[in-house]
Amino acid sequence: MIVTIDGPAGSGKSTAAKGLAERLGFEFLDTGAMYRCVAWAVIQKHVDPHDEAAVGHVSQQIQITFSDARVLVNDADVTGLIRTPEVTEVASVIAQYPEVREELVRLQRDAACETNIVSEGRDQGTVVFPDAFCKFFLVADPQERARRRHEELQEEGKEITVDEILQQIYQRDQRDEQRDVAPLKAANDALEINTSVLTIDAVLDQLEETVRERISALSR
Ligand code: C5P
Repeated sequence: MIVTIDGPAGSGKSTAAKGLAERLGFEFLDTGAMYRCVAWAVIQKHVDPHDEAAVGHVSQQIQITFSDARVLVNDADVTGLIRTPEVTEVASVIAQYPEVREELVRLQRDAACETNIVSEGRDQGTVVFPDAFCKFFLVADPQERARRRHEELQEEGKEITVDEILQQIYQRDQRDEQRDVAPLKAANDALEINTSVLTIDAVLDQLEETVRERISALSR
């Protein structure tokens, strides 16, 4: 059984997907982390992120593994390293390339094979799992998304203003929404939830209730 949670950066989907997977006893797949792994490897190998063919090649050469909440590229533990602003920026660029997406979509479908999973990203309900059991699309006001991201970065001791974050968010949204392949958008059959004024528990309650209702409808 596959549950998808898509939405823009800062909409709260990572926390929601992780929490929902825990409540349901499902696996959790962070597909953004996969794009970040490719970006990290591109930077490591001094490949130009705008060289589409070279980046495509990197995406085919590396092995991405999720193990006990750690993320590995080949044998390197990159869990923290893929969260830097540089990787965030490069990930958003290389996610536009069809060759990279093709490779990662294949890995995502493999990960969901014969298991119950909550999969989180931008295209999970539209492209990767169009037949998913339950689809959600989370949104939040840009100001609130920037405020959340600012709070996270401050906790990590990183100095950046809310306005700078807002600019970055607009730029990433634009790339995600306007790319030719698998643009960010809600699937027609996705339930849209605006998380701007909701606590994480309220979001999780709504997600869990929806999935459980659908599961019990199956046996009726
Ligand atoms: O969700 P996260 O911010 O970690 O994703 C990193 C980048 O990967 C995003 O900026 C987005 O461009 C890309 N991405 C994507 N498709 C997904 C997941 C992430 O294009 N399914």
